[in-house]
Amino acid sequence: MSVIILLLKFVKPRIHYGDPMGDIPFRDLVELCEALERTTKRSSMIALIASFFKKIPSDLVGIAARMIVGKIFPEWSHKTLDISWRTIIKVIKEITGTKPKDILDAFNKTGDPGDMTKILFEKKKGVKQITLLAPQKQQITLLDVYKIFNEVSEVKGEGSKRKKELLLRGLLEKCEPLEAKYIVKILLGEMRHGASEGIVEEALALLSNAPIELVKRAHMLTGDIGEVAEIAVKGGIRALKEVKMRLFHPIEPMLAQAAESVEEALKIHGGRTAFEWKLDGARVQIHKKENEVKIFSRRLTDVTLSLPDVVAQVRDNIKAREVILEGEVIAIGNDGKPLPFQHLMRRFRRVKDVKEMVEEIPVRLYLFDILYLNGNLLIDMPYVERREKLYEISGDIQLVPQIITSDSKEAEHFFKAARSAGHEGLMAKKPNSDYTPGIRGKKWLKIKETLDTLDLVIVAADWGYGRRYKWLSDYYLAARDENSGEFLVVGKTFKGLTDEEFEHMTKRLLELKIGERGRTVFVKPEVVVEVAFDEIQKSPKYKSGYALRFARIVRIREDKRPEEADTITRIRELFEKQFRSKARAE
Ligand code: AMP
Repeated sequence: MSVIILLLKFVKPRIHYGDPMGDIPFRDLVELCEALERTTKRSSMIALIASFFKKIPSDLVGIAARMIVGKIFPEWSHKTLDISWRTIIKVIKEITGTKPKDILDAFNKTGDPGDMTKILFEKKKGVKQITLLAPQKQQITLLDVYKIFNEVSEVKGEGSKRKKELLLRGLLEKCEPLEAKYIVKILLGEMRHGASEGIVEEALALLSNAPIELVKRAHMLTGDIGEVAEIAVKGGIRALKEVKMRLFHPIEPMLAQAAESVEEALKIHGGRTAFEWKLDGARVQIHKKENEVKIFSRRLTDVTLSLPDVVAQVRDNIKAREVILEGEVIAIGNDGKPLPFQHLMRRFRRVKDVKEMVEEIPVRLYLFDILYLNGNLLIDMPYVERREKLYEISGDIQLVPQIITSDSKEAEHFFKAARSAGHEGLMAKKPNSDYTPGIRGKKWLKIKETLDTLDLVIVAADWGYGRRYKWLSDYYLAARDENSGEFLVVGKTFKGLTDEEFEHMTKRLLELKIGERGRTVFVKPEVVVEVAFDEIQKSPKYKSGYALRFARIVRIREDKRPEEADTITRIRELFEKQFRSKARAE
């Protein structure tokens, strides 16, 4: 009897396309992603996603939307899979019996963790054992995958690493190579098929006949593409209109483009603009409701625990029941001047003994924007009016110094004042501009002293010599090739980090290891560093065709993702600019 029940369990038919609460094979989502990967046309991607959503049970639309963009849990949910690259590699090795060298080769061939996984699964030796209870291979479903991801996110405490490993192993063992490719992609949040959240929004607009602005707004307010997808598909325009702002769900921050000078900024903004000091710290988004305060980083992670002093300051000063504020936190030295960014990062990294850190590295909060106040969303309000509101409620908390001017001399003066106070430069903000979450436009411009630093990604590192023998201390720096998505090396450096940072970096890079050859450890491109250099040269040594002379790390950009790193095109632009200015000088 019990054998029959077990057999029934294994062959239960779970695929019900017409049923709103049914399930679908995971393979269908995989095929959609493959189709997305094959096209670069925006309109085709939108149509593909829209028809997929139309076809699947409406209860699955949210999960599918999140999987398509590789964000299985929204940031504010505090749920994370928290499976390291090291664990993924370990499980793949266990399942496929691959040698370390093959892993490195497979990665080098594709440059993509998902494609690498597919290759290794295809090479897997041995046939799957056929048992009585699993007469044929059970096809995994979308809900199977989602349930396991959920289980993984709930594993806590002692032995959790091993438990997660087993869950992942159990899932991957059931996968065909192509399915495994996407499990790994979703786990890492690196889909690379080109269909961004913006494209999913367009697909939802198309499907629900809603204006794209309405979908975008709902997405911004919920901070979860899955929730918006369900709302749009189940409730259409009416339901989308009803979406309200929710405190403690962070909003994507507005970003700035670079400008060469204050003159250029003035020109772009039509002759008159607001200049603010650009502080060299960490951006924070502060949500407050009565006495409850939460702080989110630029990447929208909750950093409240690292900043108890800022929380207290907000609680004591802000004269508003409900509010969302933006500002910059900087570390302050004994002389009251800002400390380099690295000090601040130590504050953010620390989760234990925060109290000591608060004393060791005092920080100061400067506010520069307000997005929500007592039930009203302010993002459509012009910048100058938002600033006015911010001033009214900020109590003793300082606002970032600001001037509004049309005079480039005055702006230049202000720039020098920011620099001599130890800050990076200026931001120019168009006075009548709205706040556009997640968009890097021209309404905000950043003006730094020198534009000639690059944000590059570490793709490999050599073990050091002498005093540094225990550290991975010589780094291969790569820029992104927008066409292929590859990271191409443009230089190498062992300069710029403190001992503490070398130690931290070594740990971090070993977690990201793909393989090694001789003294070189190859890593998954993830860590972004800001790099200064003297010159860009043409070089046959690297595939990129360029090499940086005297590269040195200025700081580790914990706040940047590898997709935000500088590109080969940018390097070419800088090379040409430098070539032109040299020619002028000669
Ligand atoms: P970047 O990181 O170089 O793209 O420059 C943008 C960053 O500058 C923002 O994300 C903020 O963290 C920071 N920042 C410093 N001062 C300001 C300011 N007054 N307004 C806006 N952002 C600022």
